[in-house]
Amino acid sequence: MNQPVIDLQEALREYFGFSQFKGDQEEIIETVMEGKDCLVIMPTGGGKSLCYQLPALMMEGTAIIISPLIALMKNQVDAIRGYSEGDVIAHFLNSSLGRKEIAQVKEDIASGATKLLYVAPETLTKEENLEFFSNVNVSFVAIDEAHCISEWGHDFRPEYRNIRSMIERIGTNIPAIALTATATPKVQTDILKSLDMRNERRFISSFNRPNLYYEVRPKLNKDQTIKEILQILKGAGSPSAIIYVQARKTTEELAEVLRLNGISAVPYHAGMDAKSRSQVQDAFLGEEVKVICATIAFGMGIDKPDVRCVIHYDIPKSIENYYQETGRGGRDGLEGSCYAFYAPKDIYKLEKFLRDKPVAEREMGGQLLEEVVAYAETSGCRRKFLLHYFGEEYDDGQCDGMCDNCRFPKEKHEVKNEVKKGLEVVMQLKEGYSTKVIVDFLMGKTSKEMNEYGFNMLEGYGSGIEKGDVFWYSILRQALLAGLLEKEIENYGVLKVTAQGKAYIQKPKSLKIPINRDFSIEKTSADDAPAKMVALDEILVAQLEDLRKREAKKKGVPTWAVFQDVSLQEMATNYPVNMEELSNISGVSMGKAQKYGKAFVEVIKKYVEDNEIERPSDFIVRQVANKSKTKVQIIHSIDRKMPLEDIQRTNSLTRDELLEELDIIVGSGTKLDIQYYLDTMIDESIQEEIYEYFMKAESDSFIEAYHALKEDDITAEEIQLVRLKFLSDVAN
Ligand SMILES: [Zn+2]
Repeated sequence: MNQPVIDLQEALREYFGFSQFKGDQEEIIETVMEGKDCLVIMPTGGGKSLCYQLPALMMEGTAIIISPLIALMKNQVDAIRGYSEGDVIAHFLNSSLGRKEIAQVKEDIASGATKLLYVAPETLTKEENLEFFSNVNVSFVAIDEAHCISEWGHDFRPEYRNIRSMIERIGTNIPAIALTATATPKVQTDILKSLDMRNERRFISSFNRPNLYYEVRPKLNKDQTIKEILQILKGAGSPSAIIYVQARKTTEELAEVLRLNGISAVPYHAGMDAKSRSQVQDAFLGEEVKVICATIAFGMGIDKPDVRCVIHYDIPKSIENYYQETGRGGRDGLEGSCYAFYAPKDIYKLEKFLRDKPVAEREMGGQLLEEVVAYAETSGCRRKFLLHYFGEEYDDGQCDGMCDNCRFPKEKHEVKNEVKKGLEVVMQLKEGYSTKVIVDFLMGKTSKEMNEYGFNMLEGYGSGIEKGDVFWYSILRQALLAGLLEKEIENYGVLKVTAQGKAYIQKPKSLKIPINRDFSIEKTSADDAPAKMVALDEILVAQLEDLRKREAKKKGVPTWAVFQDVSLQEMATNYPVNMEELSNISGVSMGKAQKYGKAFVEVIKKYVEDNEIERPSDFIVRQVANKSKTKVQIIHSIDRKMPLEDIQRTNSLTRDELLEELDIIVGSGTKLDIQYYLDTMIDESIQEEIYEYFMKAESDSFIEAYHALKEDDITAEEIQLVRLKFLSDVAN
């Protein structure tokens, strides 16, 4: 084929307005234009799409771009059209188009006006389409997200398996270019095999993104995590950021809390319709919104160069996902920070999802998760770990503090003998088992393998117990990184000792490694445990207590009915200086703030000014009012004067559970009028007696009330009910 000599630089300027190619782009484009097959592996942000867009625009005919994501096709087409005068230059063909639109697309292709056509693999399989394409001039086929071909990728699509036969139906000698941003060596082999690429050229860019900083933090509970996220974002000056979470509900909750704390944030998930999703994308690109709280659906094909922070609120399902998502940070080459929050509990959750999947998928999903755990728990250089995963050698001396483990190095331990021992056990078990089995053996655990294969009878079983399993996982991981072991991914992650490893057993060398952090012993508490308190200001507490006494006297109510101790303590920590801030203190509703708060806010304000106190308000996490659906329903039912027995029934609650709910509702500052119910249940005189008791009582304690009143034949439930009324009347 005689290609006229073309100046690619000139074409790049003309079509896209760029003056320079990045990385291997120019060579890749030349290869495509010469009609050769090629495999392109380029990390996100490397300029992958230009590798097929530019030759498509320059070559005769239409280039077919196979892409798995229908939702993104429109964006991609819009992006290309943005560089051109007419819309005909690029089209997409997928199930979202009507009959008339399809006819128009085909007409534009047949006339030669369309240079790029994006199709979903399902669309390409259709006989009528294959027939159509075989009669038009196709310049080449690009397979985007080519890792979908492999079952070992994180995103396998069965239709991708048939691409080779589709290309053959369309015509002979049509060059193919496969592109992906993530591919382990195993996935690369699968892509080449499935596409039957021969004499292909491979362009594998380094996956290293030296401007990204990686850090993994323990996820203790929800409040603490949100607080840390706020600190990260505010500390960085509220930059553009993406926060990835697993559940749709969390995207909404998180965005709301961020908004309450003055950060413009919106949720984004697959449950939203196409229109709202594109609105969110536009708002993010246009800087109207700073933070996107997204499920994994966000970000593909969106090129915002100045995302400074990528936060994983939930740990992702695979290193591929993690790498692709963090790759959206710092595309302009300036620093990007990637934080992941990790709790072993989240892994159990992901494993549970896998349980219902077919065996093969479960095995693979499990292995991908195992790598994620190893990454999160490693104490070695995270960059080295990631690059090793993608088949690249990396000298961690180069990291230069751009991961938490290099920035804050852990103490290193000499493990020469233990590494030898680990390798020997792999050999002893005939190189047929995964990391977990080896560790179970060393730890003397009882498991299927140990019992059924009689491993528990072998010498050395349980001989590593005093070191703990985290230690042995570290040892085996380091042996992998050092090339002493290798993992057969296609064979369920079985460990083999390399030649180098065998030499090591004969003659062990000094090896010092940091021992992995044991995340399972990090203090994890219930999700609703409060975030750590900042220092309490004792002087202010004393002043507020005095004020409370005076206010209570003035209003003729007990002191605790004005504000509870916990509320005062929180005021002396967070220094609320207006009604709105006051209403964020626990136990203080807006109504209660209006009723009793004015004097308190004034005292706090004066105190802050006099003492030049720097308020921590930036980091006060404003919480969304915690009203569950049940609570809201109970409140509505009481408004409608429904008997408590009926409320119990409709909400499937026991009597005690309902009373507890009521206590929480009233305790958080909501007024409940249960007089209608009291009148049907409790003698008026008894109601009065209990009410008066509380009026004079030292506290609102139910137990104390019970001890004081039981001799008068007043039941516990009567006290509980009247107490609710009292708190509603006087305190709220
Ligand atoms: Zn590092």
